[in-house]
Amino acid sequence: MNLNLIIIGAGVSGLSAALGLLQRGHRVTLLDRGTAGGESSWAGGGILSPLLPWEYADPVASLAVRSMAAYADWVAEIEALSGRDAEFWRCGMLALDVESPDRALAWCATHGMAAEQNLPPIVSLPSGFSGRNPVWLPEVAQVRNPRLVAALRAAVVRLGGTIREHCAVTGVQTRGGRVNAVQTATDTLPADKMVLATGAWSGLGLAGLAATPHIRPIRGQMLLFKLESGVLDTILYRSGLYLIPRRDGHVLAGSTLEDAGFDKATDAATRQRLHLEAAELLPALSDIQPVRHWAGLRPGSPDNIPVIDRHPDFDNVFVNTGHYRYGVTMAPASAELLVDLMEGGQPALDPAPYRWQAALARSWGAAL
Ligand SMILES: Cc1cc2nc3c(=O)[nH]c(=O)nc-3n(C[C@H](O)[C@H](O)[C@H](O)COP(=O)(O)OP(=O)(O)OC[C@H]3O[C@@H](n4cnc5c(N)ncnc54)[C@H](O)[C@@H]3O)c2cc1C
Repeated sequence: MNLNLIIIGAGVSGLSAALGLLQRGHRVTLLDRGTAGGESSWAGGGILSPLLPWEYADPVASLAVRSMAAYADWVAEIEALSGRDAEFWRCGMLALDVESPDRALAWCATHGMAAEQNLPPIVSLPSGFSGRNPVWLPEVAQVRNPRLVAALRAAVVRLGGTIREHCAVTGVQTRGGRVNAVQTATDTLPADKMVLATGAWSGLGLAGLAATPHIRPIRGQMLLFKLESGVLDTILYRSGLYLIPRRDGHVLAGSTLEDAGFDKATDAATRQRLHLEAAELLPALSDIQPVRHWAGLRPGSPDNIPVIDRHPDFDNVFVNTGHYRYGVTMAPASAELLVDLMEGGQPALDPAPYRWQAALARSWGAAL
């Protein structure tokens, strides 16, 4: 083996692929035009589950459920390699006003996900709070995603991976139907195999390399609050809005789904609306101002189904992108599938739904 592998994009998709490849003995170089983990993988919430898992198509569930089962061990390994804490926390998620709790519970039962309608006493709802039709998912966990990507980055370096930041890839060079080098602004780097993990930018393609079908940036704005620790001890979700507590008392409120191109601007009206809705869910937030407001660009894909496959034009180019709302959740199983495909192994998951051709057949339709 010991191939020279280049991964373009050092978000969670590129970093987790690098980790898997390094663990199988390959030489890996990651190239990112910004900083590793500095885009969507930094901006997200770090919830390790689809928000209402029963609302998604099976290919989302397959990757998510497999990843969720692996996550605690995966993070422990990354933490051991890096010496960094990713703040994995099995805090549970309480979904309120669920349209059909019976259907939700039935879905969870068939997918091996713990779910209850009666809340255990350890879940302390804000005083005066009444949520209708609750579904409590006690095993849902979170990571503090900026810390996960920092730990992943350090683990990759520890295993001998090279990470080149501020290094934009502009195109590829080809010979005999294969890519043999990637082109940056300053260098030409030889590659035996290449992985494209360029997140929201995968829909743009590179010079000499066709774009991944139907990937487009979907902006999400987030607010961050700071409370005393312990005020909120579980993720709350209601009608599109979630609150994520961190152990140190920070609370994230999100998010929006905006089709605004590559613009990462935030706006005052959204800040006000998110604050209002967050305070309705957790009154302790009504009298304080957010400490931070930001936006990130999700790698949007129809039906939230990523593309994990060989590139149709080149045998030695692979793609791991389009994880849309759940790229942190799906990272371990996506990387596992990608590495299996790259090594010609028998994947644990059916790769068919994540194929390039399957992605071509999907479309955005009207909904985001
Ligand atoms: C507000 C918000 C909330 C979210 N909440 C959650 C959540 O709770 N749970 C969850 O699982 N997911 C969540 N997500 C989604 C998750 O963050 C993404 O699915 C995931 O981070 C995608 O990772 P990625 O590595 O594919 O993309 P990115 O993290 O965007 O990484 C792509 C990288 O490619 C680099 N790049 C692009 N083009 C080039 C080029 N030409 N040359 C070199 N480098 C290039 C970029 O600089 C970037 O660093 C959220 C996202 C947002 C925005």
